[in-house]
Amino acid sequence: MLRLLLLWVSGNAFLSRNLPRFRFVRSAVRRFLPGETTEAALSEAVRLKGSRIGSILALLGEDVVDPQEALKIVDHYCELLKEIDRQNLNLEISVKLTQLGADLGKDFVSTNLESILLLAEKLDLFVWIDMEDSSYVDVTLDIYKSARLQHKNTGLCVQAYLYRAADDLEGLLPFNPAIRLVKGAYAEPKELAFPRKSDVDRNYVKLSLRLLDVVAEGNARAAFATHDEAILVKIRQEAKARGISPNEVEFQMLYGINRAEQERLAAEGHNMQVVISYGPAWFSWYMRRLAERPANLWFVIRKMIWD
Ligand SMILES: Cc1cc2nc3c(=O)[nH]c(=O)nc-3n(C[C@H](O)[C@H](O)[C@H](O)COP(=O)(O)OP(=O)(O)OC[C@H]3O[C@@H](n4cnc5c(N)ncnc54)[C@H](O)[C@@H]3O)c2cc1C
Repeated sequence: MLRLLLLWVSGNAFLSRNLPRFRFVRSAVRRFLPGETTEAALSEAVRLKGSRIGSILALLGEDVVDPQEALKIVDHYCELLKEIDRQNLNLEISVKLTQLGADLGKDFVSTNLESILLLAEKLDLFVWIDMEDSSYVDVTLDIYKSARLQHKNTGLCVQAYLYRAADDLEGLLPFNPAIRLVKGAYAEPKELAFPRKSDVDRNYVKLSLRLLDVVAEGNARAAFATHDEAILVKIRQEAKARGISPNEVEFQMLYGINRAEQERLAAEGHNMQVVISYGPAWFSWYMRRLAERPANLWFVIRKMIWD
Protein backbone atom coordinates (compact mmCIF):
# COMPACT_ATOMS: atom_id res chain seq x y z
CA MET A 1 0.00 0.00 0.00
CA LEU A 2 2.76 2.41 1.02
CA ARG A 3 4.63 1.67 -2.21
CA LEU A 4 1.51 2.48 -4.26
CA LEU A 5 0.90 5.65 -2.25
CA LEU A 6 4.47 6.85 -2.84
CA LEU A 7 4.21 6.06 -6.55
CA TRP A 8 0.94 8.05 -6.65
CA VAL A 9 2.67 10.98 -4.90
CA SER A 10 5.49 10.76 -7.48
CA GLY A 11 3.02 11.63 -10.24
CA ASN A 12 1.04 14.30 -8.36
CA ALA A 13 1.63 17.78 -9.80
CA PHE A 14 0.53 19.71 -6.68
CA LEU A 15 2.82 17.74 -4.35
CA SER A 16 5.70 17.90 -6.89
CA ARG A 17 5.45 21.69 -6.77
CA ASN A 18 5.05 22.07 -3.03
CA LEU A 19 6.83 19.32 -1.09
CA PRO A 20 10.35 20.24 -2.34
CA ARG A 21 9.91 23.62 -0.59
CA PHE A 22 10.37 21.91 2.78
CA ARG A 23 13.96 21.91 3.97
CA PHE A 24 13.73 18.42 5.49
CA VAL A 25 12.67 16.97 2.10
CA ARG A 26 15.59 18.69 0.33
CA SER A 27 17.93 17.54 3.05
CA ALA A 28 16.75 13.88 2.89
CA VAL A 29 17.21 13.68 -0.88
CA ARG A 30 20.95 14.46 -0.51
CA ARG A 31 21.50 10.80 0.36
CA PHE A 32 20.71 9.86 -3.26
CA LEU A 33 21.83 13.03 -5.00
CA PRO A 34 25.30 14.58 -4.66
CA GLY A 35 23.85 17.94 -5.67
CA GLU A 36 21.73 19.73 -8.22
CA THR A 37 24.60 20.96 -10.42
CA THR A 38 26.64 19.29 -13.16
CA GLU A 39 29.80 20.19 -11.21
CA ALA A 40 28.55 18.30 -8.13
CA ALA A 41 27.81 15.20 -10.24
CA LEU A 42 31.17 15.38 -12.07
CA SER A 43 33.18 15.81 -8.89
CA GLU A 44 31.41 12.81 -7.28
CA ALA A 45 32.17 10.76 -10.40
CA VAL A 46 35.86 11.68 -10.08
CA ARG A 47 35.80 10.64 -6.42
CA LEU A 48 34.19 7.26 -7.23
CA LYS A 49 36.88 6.61 -9.84
CA GLY A 50 39.29 6.34 -6.91
CA SER A 51 37.40 3.17 -5.88
CA ARG A 52 37.39 1.87 -9.48
CA ILE A 53 33.68 2.64 -9.79
CA GLY A 54 32.55 4.15 -13.09
CA SER A 55 29.70 6.63 -13.33
CA ILE A 56 26.74 7.27 -15.55
CA LEU A 57 25.40 10.82 -15.32
CA ALA A 58 21.66 11.49 -15.59
CA LEU A 59 20.02 14.88 -15.53
CA LEU A 60 16.74 14.52 -13.65
CA GLY A 61 13.51 15.45 -15.38
CA GLU A 62 10.73 13.78 -17.32
CA ASP A 63 7.42 14.42 -19.09
CA VAL A 64 8.67 17.53 -20.87
CA VAL A 65 5.90 19.00 -23.05
CA ASP A 66 7.50 22.31 -24.06
CA PRO A 67 9.68 21.91 -27.18
CA GLN A 68 12.03 24.71 -26.08
CA GLU A 69 12.60 22.97 -22.76
CA ALA A 70 13.34 19.66 -24.50
CA LEU A 71 15.86 21.42 -26.77
CA LYS A 72 17.51 23.01 -23.72
CA ILE A 73 17.93 19.52 -22.26
CA VAL A 74 19.53 18.34 -25.50
CA ASP A 75 21.95 21.29 -25.27
CA HIS A 76 22.65 20.44 -21.65
CA TYR A 77 23.57 16.85 -22.53
CA CYS A 78 25.75 18.00 -25.44
CA GLU A 79 27.63 20.40 -23.14
CA LEU A 80 27.97 17.62 -20.58
CA LEU A 81 29.46 15.25 -23.17
CA LYS A 82 31.95 17.95 -24.22
CA GLU A 83 32.89 18.55 -20.57
CA ILE A 84 33.39 14.82 -19.96
CA ASP A 85 35.61 14.74 -23.04
CA ARG A 86 37.51 17.91 -22.02
CA GLN A 87 38.27 16.42 -18.61
CA ASN A 88 39.02 13.03 -20.20
CA LEU A 89 36.73 11.32 -17.67
CA ASN A 90 35.34 8.45 -19.77
CA LEU A 91 31.89 8.67 -18.14
CA GLU A 92 28.61 7.52 -19.67
CA ILE A 93 25.27 9.34 -19.65
CA SER A 94 21.66 8.21 -19.33
CA VAL A 95 18.63 9.94 -20.85
CA LYS A 96 14.86 9.58 -20.63
CA LEU A 97 12.91 9.93 -23.87
CA THR A 98 10.08 11.92 -22.22
CA GLN A 99 12.78 14.36 -21.13
CA LEU A 100 13.79 14.80 -24.78
CA GLY A 101 10.19 15.37 -25.88
CA ALA A 102 8.65 11.91 -26.48
CA ASP A 103 5.21 13.45 -25.85
CA LEU A 104 5.85 15.96 -28.65
CA GLY A 105 6.10 13.29 -31.34
CA LYS A 106 8.33 10.43 -32.39
CA ASP A 107 10.19 12.45 -35.04
CA PHE A 108 10.93 15.25 -32.58
CA VAL A 109 12.31 12.99 -29.88
CA SER A 110 14.25 10.85 -32.41
CA THR A 111 15.95 13.94 -33.83
CA ASN A 112 16.85 15.10 -30.33
CA LEU A 113 18.28 11.72 -29.39
CA GLU A 114 20.19 11.62 -32.68
CA SER A 115 21.92 14.94 -31.85
CA ILE A 116 23.13 13.50 -28.56
CA LEU A 117 24.18 10.15 -30.06
CA LEU A 118 26.08 11.75 -32.93
CA LEU A 119 28.14 13.93 -30.61
CA ALA A 120 28.70 11.06 -28.17
CA GLU A 121 29.90 8.86 -31.03
CA LYS A 122 32.31 11.54 -32.20
CA LEU A 123 33.72 11.78 -28.66
CA ASP A 124 33.70 7.98 -28.18
CA LEU A 125 31.22 8.19 -25.29
CA PHE A 126 28.22 6.00 -24.45
CA VAL A 127 24.54 6.89 -24.01
CA TRP A 128 22.01 4.78 -22.09
CA ILE A 129 18.27 5.17 -22.62
CA ASP A 130 16.06 4.67 -19.55
CA MET A 131 12.77 2.82 -19.78
CA GLU A 132 9.79 4.74 -18.40
CA ASP A 133 6.22 3.65 -17.68
CA SER A 134 4.59 1.00 -19.87
CA SER A 135 2.86 3.50 -22.17
CA TYR A 136 6.33 4.41 -23.55
CA VAL A 137 7.75 0.91 -24.03
CA ASP A 138 6.77 0.44 -27.71
CA VAL A 139 8.01 3.84 -28.84
CA THR A 140 11.23 3.50 -26.82
CA LEU A 141 11.97 0.09 -28.33
CA ASP A 142 11.33 1.39 -31.88
CA ILE A 143 13.53 4.42 -31.38
CA TYR A 144 16.29 2.37 -29.79
CA LYS A 145 16.32 -0.21 -32.60
CA SER A 146 16.58 2.51 -35.29
CA ALA A 147 19.27 4.32 -33.31
CA ARG A 148 21.26 1.14 -32.73
CA LEU A 149 21.43 0.45 -36.48
CA GLN A 150 23.32 3.74 -36.85
CA HIS A 151 25.19 3.97 -33.55
CA LYS A 152 26.94 1.32 -31.50
CA ASN A 153 27.34 3.65 -28.54
CA THR A 154 23.86 3.27 -27.10
CA GLY A 155 22.13 0.93 -24.65
CA LEU A 156 18.56 0.40 -23.47
CA CYS A 157 16.90 -0.50 -20.19
CA VAL A 158 14.60 -3.56 -20.01
CA GLN A 159 12.21 -3.96 -17.05
CA ALA A 160 11.79 -7.48 -15.66
CA TYR A 161 8.42 -6.71 -14.00
CA LEU A 162 6.70 -6.54 -17.40
CA TYR A 163 5.22 -9.81 -18.73
CA ARG A 164 6.45 -8.75 -22.16
CA ALA A 165 10.09 -8.33 -21.07
CA ALA A 166 11.30 -11.74 -22.34
CA ASP A 167 9.78 -11.13 -25.80
CA ASP A 168 11.15 -7.60 -25.90
CA LEU A 169 14.60 -8.89 -25.02
CA GLU A 170 14.46 -11.50 -27.81
CA GLY A 171 13.39 -8.75 -30.23
CA LEU A 172 16.42 -6.68 -29.24
CA LEU A 173 19.05 -9.41 -29.49
CA PRO A 174 19.45 -9.30 -33.31
CA PHE A 175 20.63 -5.69 -32.86
CA ASN A 176 23.67 -6.82 -30.86
CA PRO A 177 22.40 -4.51 -28.13
CA ALA A 178 23.62 -3.12 -24.86
CA ILE A 179 20.97 -3.96 -22.26
CA ARG A 180 20.57 -2.64 -18.74
CA LEU A 181 18.33 -5.09 -16.91
CA VAL A 182 16.25 -3.65 -14.04
CA LYS A 183 13.26 -4.84 -12.05
CA GLY A 184 11.13 -1.76 -12.90
CA ALA A 185 10.20 1.32 -10.89
CA TYR A 186 6.71 2.45 -11.97
CA ALA A 187 3.16 1.62 -10.78
CA GLU A 188 1.91 -0.80 -13.43
CA PRO A 189 -1.45 -2.60 -13.62
CA LYS A 190 -1.52 -6.34 -12.92
CA GLU A 191 -2.56 -6.91 -16.57
CA LEU A 192 0.91 -5.72 -17.66
CA ALA A 193 3.33 -6.46 -14.83
CA PHE A 194 3.88 -9.10 -12.16
CA PRO A 195 2.21 -7.74 -9.01
CA ARG A 196 4.24 -10.01 -6.70
CA LYS A 197 7.87 -9.17 -5.94
CA SER A 198 8.83 -12.86 -5.87
CA ASP A 199 7.64 -13.21 -9.50
CA VAL A 200 9.54 -10.11 -10.54
CA ASP A 201 12.71 -11.48 -8.91
CA ARG A 202 12.22 -14.85 -10.63
CA ASN A 203 11.78 -13.17 -14.01
CA TYR A 204 14.83 -10.99 -13.37
CA VAL A 205 16.95 -14.10 -12.81
CA LYS A 206 15.50 -15.82 -15.89
CA LEU A 207 16.31 -12.81 -18.09
CA SER A 208 19.77 -12.52 -16.52
CA LEU A 209 20.59 -16.11 -17.46
CA ARG A 210 19.48 -15.46 -21.03
CA LEU A 211 21.66 -12.34 -21.13
CA LEU A 212 24.65 -14.18 -19.71
CA ASP A 213 24.35 -16.77 -22.50
CA VAL A 214 24.38 -13.99 -25.06
CA VAL A 215 27.32 -12.25 -23.36
CA ALA A 216 29.24 -15.57 -23.39
CA GLU A 217 28.72 -15.68 -27.17
CA GLY A 218 29.97 -12.08 -27.43
CA ASN A 219 26.68 -10.83 -28.87
CA ALA A 220 25.64 -8.19 -26.34
CA ARG A 221 26.76 -5.91 -23.55
CA ALA A 222 24.71 -6.64 -20.45
CA ALA A 223 24.52 -4.50 -17.32
CA PHE A 224 22.76 -6.05 -14.35
CA ALA A 225 21.24 -3.05 -12.58
CA THR A 226 20.10 -4.21 -9.17
CA HIS A 227 20.96 -3.90 -5.48
CA ASP A 228 19.48 -7.32 -4.73
CA GLU A 229 22.35 -9.18 -3.06
CA ALA A 230 20.91 -12.68 -3.61
CA ILE A 231 20.56 -11.96 -7.33
CA LEU A 232 24.07 -10.46 -7.47
CA VAL A 233 25.48 -13.70 -6.03
CA LYS A 234 23.49 -15.81 -8.49
CA ILE A 235 24.68 -13.77 -11.50
CA ARG A 236 28.32 -14.06 -10.44
CA GLN A 237 27.99 -17.83 -10.01
CA GLU A 238 26.25 -18.29 -13.35
CA ALA A 239 28.78 -16.07 -15.13
CA LYS A 240 31.63 -18.12 -13.71
CA ALA A 241 29.90 -21.36 -14.79
CA ARG A 242 29.80 -19.98 -18.34
CA GLY A 243 33.48 -19.03 -18.29
CA ILE A 244 32.76 -15.30 -18.37
CA SER A 245 35.54 -13.38 -16.67
CA PRO A 246 34.65 -10.89 -13.86
CA ASN A 247 35.57 -7.85 -15.95
CA GLU A 248 32.99 -8.87 -18.56
CA VAL A 249 30.22 -8.90 -15.95
CA GLU A 250 28.84 -5.41 -15.51
CA PHE A 251 26.79 -4.25 -12.55
CA GLN A 252 25.01 -0.95 -12.17
CA MET A 253 23.56 0.59 -9.02
CA LEU A 254 22.14 3.92 -7.97
CA TYR A 255 24.27 6.51 -6.22
CA GLY A 256 23.85 6.32 -2.44
CA ILE A 257 22.53 2.75 -2.29
CA ASN A 258 24.70 -0.06 -0.90
CA ARG A 259 28.06 1.62 -1.41
CA ALA A 260 29.89 -1.23 0.39
CA GLU A 261 28.61 -3.75 -2.15
CA GLN A 262 29.59 -1.44 -5.00
CA GLU A 263 33.15 -1.30 -3.70
CA ARG A 264 33.24 -5.06 -3.17
CA LEU A 265 32.11 -5.79 -6.74
CA ALA A 266 34.62 -3.29 -8.15
CA ALA A 267 37.42 -4.86 -6.06
CA GLU A 268 36.47 -8.31 -7.42
CA GLY A 269 37.25 -6.91 -10.89
CA HIS A 270 33.71 -6.43 -12.14
CA ASN A 271 32.73 -3.50 -14.28
CA MET A 272 30.87 -1.53 -11.59
CA GLN A 273 28.97 1.58 -12.61
CA VAL A 274 26.85 3.93 -10.54
CA VAL A 275 24.12 6.16 -11.94
CA ILE A 276 24.56 9.65 -10.51
CA SER A 277 21.40 11.68 -10.94
CA TYR A 278 21.51 15.43 -10.54
CA GLY A 279 19.51 18.56 -11.29
CA PRO A 280 16.63 20.43 -9.70
CA ALA A 281 13.80 18.19 -11.01
CA TRP A 282 14.27 15.43 -8.45
CA PHE A 283 10.85 15.09 -6.81
CA SER A 284 9.17 12.27 -8.86
CA TRP A 285 12.43 10.38 -9.11
CA TYR A 286 13.00 10.63 -5.35
CA MET A 287 9.47 9.38 -4.59
CA ARG A 288 10.20 6.30 -6.74
CA ARG A 289 13.37 5.69 -4.68
CA LEU A 290 11.27 5.88 -1.48
CA ALA A 291 8.73 3.51 -2.99
CA GLU A 292 11.47 0.95 -3.67
CA ARG A 293 12.22 0.85 0.01
CA PRO A 294 9.51 2.46 2.14
CA ALA A 295 11.84 2.06 5.17
CA ASN A 296 13.67 5.08 3.66
CA LEU A 297 10.71 7.15 4.86
CA TRP A 298 12.11 6.90 8.42
CA PHE A 299 15.16 8.75 7.15
CA VAL A 300 12.89 11.56 5.87
CA ILE A 301 10.97 11.62 9.15
CA ARG A 302 14.22 11.82 11.14
CA LYS A 303 15.28 14.79 9.00
CA MET A 304 11.89 16.41 9.64
CA ILE A 305 12.33 16.08 13.40
CA TRP A 306 16.03 16.86 13.79
CA ASP A 307 16.97 19.23 10.95
C1 LIG B 1 21.48 1.68 -12.60
C2 LIG B 1 20.00 1.62 -12.50
C3 LIG B 1 19.23 2.15 -13.52
C4 LIG B 1 17.84 2.08 -13.45
N1 LIG B 1 17.08 2.50 -14.51
C5 LIG B 1 15.75 2.29 -14.49
C6 LIG B 1 14.94 2.58 -15.62
O1 LIG B 1 15.40 3.08 -16.65
N2 LIG B 1 13.61 2.30 -15.55
C7 LIG B 1 13.03 1.74 -14.43
O2 LIG B 1 11.82 1.46 -14.43
N3 LIG B 1 13.78 1.49 -13.34
C8 LIG B 1 15.11 1.75 -13.34
N4 LIG B 1 15.84 1.46 -12.22
C9 LIG B 1 15.17 1.14 -10.93
C10 LIG B 1 14.83 -0.33 -10.83
O3 LIG B 1 13.78 -0.65 -11.70
C11 LIG B 1 14.40 -0.70 -9.39
O4 LIG B 1 13.26 0.04 -9.04
C12 LIG B 1 15.47 -0.45 -8.34
O5 LIG B 1 16.73 -0.78 -8.82
C13 LIG B 1 15.19 -1.28 -7.07
O6 LIG B 1 15.20 -2.65 -7.38
P1 LIG B 1 16.39 -3.64 -7.01
O7 LIG B 1 16.73 -4.39 -8.24
O8 LIG B 1 17.50 -2.94 -6.37
O9 LIG B 1 15.71 -4.72 -6.06
P2 LIG B 1 14.85 -4.59 -4.74
O10 LIG B 1 14.38 -5.96 -4.46
O11 LIG B 1 13.86 -3.49 -4.86
O12 LIG B 1 15.92 -4.14 -3.67
C14 LIG B 1 16.95 -5.02 -3.21
C15 LIG B 1 17.61 -4.37 -2.02
O13 LIG B 1 18.30 -3.21 -2.46
C16 LIG B 1 18.19 -2.16 -1.53
N5 LIG B 1 17.45 -1.05 -2.16
C17 LIG B 1 16.75 -1.07 -3.33
N6 LIG B 1 16.23 0.12 -3.61
C18 LIG B 1 16.59 0.92 -2.57
C19 LIG B 1 16.34 2.29 -2.27
N7 LIG B 1 15.65 3.09 -3.08
N8 LIG B 1 16.89 2.77 -1.13
C20 LIG B 1 17.62 2.01 -0.29
N9 LIG B 1 17.88 0.70 -0.54
C21 LIG B 1 17.37 0.17 -1.66
C22 LIG B 1 17.44 -2.73 -0.35
O14 LIG B 1 18.35 -3.25 0.55
C23 LIG B 1 16.64 -3.85 -0.96
O15 LIG B 1 16.30 -4.84 -0.03
C24 LIG B 1 17.23 1.51 -12.29
C25 LIG B 1 18.02 0.98 -11.28
C26 LIG B 1 19.38 1.01 -11.37
C27 LIG B 1 20.18 0.40 -10.28
